[in-house]
Amino acid sequence: MRQSKLFTKTRREAPKDEVAKNAQLLIRAGFIHKEMAGVYAYLPLGLRVLENIKKIVREEMNKIGGQEMIMTSLQRKELWEQTDRWDDEKVDVWFKSSLKSGAEVGFGWSHEEPITDMMKNYISSYRDLPVFAYQFQTKLRNELRAKSGIMRGREFVMKDMYSYTTDEAAHKAIYDATTAAYLRIFERTGLGDRTFLTFASGGAFTQFSHEFQTLSDVGEDVIYLDRSKKIAVNKEVLTDEVLAQLDLKREDLEEISAIEVGNIFSFGGTKSEQLGLLFKDEKGETRPVTLGSYGIGITRLMGTIVEVLSDDKGIVWPAEVAPYPVHLISIHNGNADVIAEADRLYELLLEHNIEVLYDDRDARAGEKFADADLIGIPKRMIVSEKTMSSASVEIVERASGTTAMIPESGIMEHLKK
Ligand code: ATP
Ligand code: MG
Repeated sequence: MRQSKLFTKTRREAPKDEVAKNAQLLIRAGFIHKEMAGVYAYLPLGLRVLENIKKIVREEMNKIGGQEMIMTSLQRKELWEQTDRWDDEKVDVWFKSSLKSGAEVGFGWSHEEPITDMMKNYISSYRDLPVFAYQFQTKLRNELRAKSGIMRGREFVMKDMYSYTTDEAAHKAIYDATTAAYLRIFERTGLGDRTFLTFASGGAFTQFSHEFQTLSDVGEDVIYLDRSKKIAVNKEVLTDEVLAQLDLKREDLEEISAIEVGNIFSFGGTKSEQLGLLFKDEKGETRPVTLGSYGIGITRLMGTIVEVLSDDKGIVWPAEVAPYPVHLISIHNGNADVIAEADRLYELLLEHNIEVLYDDRDARAGEKFADADLIGIPKRMIVSEKTMSSASVEIVERASGTTAMIPESGIMEHLKK
C-alpha cells in the first residue's frame, strides 16, 4: 500500500472528548473513526488489525473443532422471555425496537438464546453431539458508560463460541481445550506475559466462570493474582472460603487492575431445558444438552494491545496483529535515484509476498519517522542517499529501537527471521 494513496492521515491531536489512550492513539494514527461515544468505524489500517486478530482466533477455534457461522442481529422477544432475559431489569444493555407490525425485537447483545433455540433443528440424539459453533459478530449493547475507547463499545466485535455436549465430562474436555486455546490466542496477540486465567462469578450453573484478565492500570476490574501459580481471583468472588477452595493464600496475592479480554461459562443443562434443547442419550432417555459459552472481545483485545504495549511515541504492534509487517520509508528529498530505488524495493517485497506500507510521500524525514512511530509497524525499512551509498537498507525495530544496516542481498532473509 502506497501511503500517498491511503485516504487516512495521521493527526497531531485526538478529539477533545476522547479520554482513552487506546482510542486517542488509534484515531491519531488513522486506524479508527469515532462516530459517537462507544461507536467506532474501522478504517483500512484498523480493519487489517481486526482481521489479523480474527485470523488468530479463527485458527485456534478451528483447531479445537469449532465451526464458524454467523447469527442474526435482530432477535425475537419471545425467545428471551423463555429464559427471563428480555426484561430491562434483568439485562440492562438491551437496545430494542419494533417492527412495522408492532412486534418488538431486540438487537443482539449476546447469542446464547437464539443459537440454542436454532440447534433444536440439528440436535436430537447423542449421535449429533458434540457441536462447537462460533461466530465473529457485532454486538450491540446500550452501555451506560463508554469512556474506555474501543475497550467498551456500544457496538463491538465479539467472538462467541457455544459448546453442546452430552454430559459434564464431555463439557469439561471442551472447556479445558478452549481455556488452552485462549491462552495461545493471548500469547500470539502479544499479551501472553500479562494475561491470566481468573476465577469469577459463575452465573446460573457453576460456582465460577473463568475470565482472562490482562494487567493494566486502566482496567475496570480488580483481580488478586498469584504470579507463581499464574492464576487470579476476581475481587467480586474473593472470600476466605474461595481462597481455601482454590488452595491460594491471601499473602501470596497481588491486588491489581485488569482488563477482561475473555470470559467463559458453563451453563449446564439449565438454558437448554428452558429453551427445549433436549436429546436422547444412549439409553434412550431424554435429557437437556449441556451448554458452554466462550467469549473474546475482539475489538477490546485490539484496544488492550494498544493500551498496554504503546510507548510515548505511539503504538507498538506485535508481529502477528500488525497491519503490515514492514513499513518501507523513502527519505528522498526529491532525489530521483532514491525514489527509484525505494520503488524497486517495494516491488521486490510484493513479489516475495511481504505486505508493506510504503511511505512514498513528499514529506520531511522527521515527519515520516514520527508517523511511523505513531502507526507502530514492527519493522521500518529506510532507503535514503546514505543507505544507497553502502548498497544496503537500514532496518529499525519499532519495539526495541535497534537498528541494523542490512546489505541488499540479505533483506529477504532478514525479514523472514
Ligand atoms: P464487562 O464485564 O466488561 O461488561 P461482560 O462480562 O458483560 O463484560 P461478556 O458478556 O462475558 O462480557 O462478553 C464476552 C467478552 O466480550 C468480554 O470478556 C469482553 O472481552 C467483551 N466485551 C463485553 N462487553 C464489551 C463492550 N461493551 N465493548 C467491547 N468488548 C466487550
Ligand atoms: Mg464478563
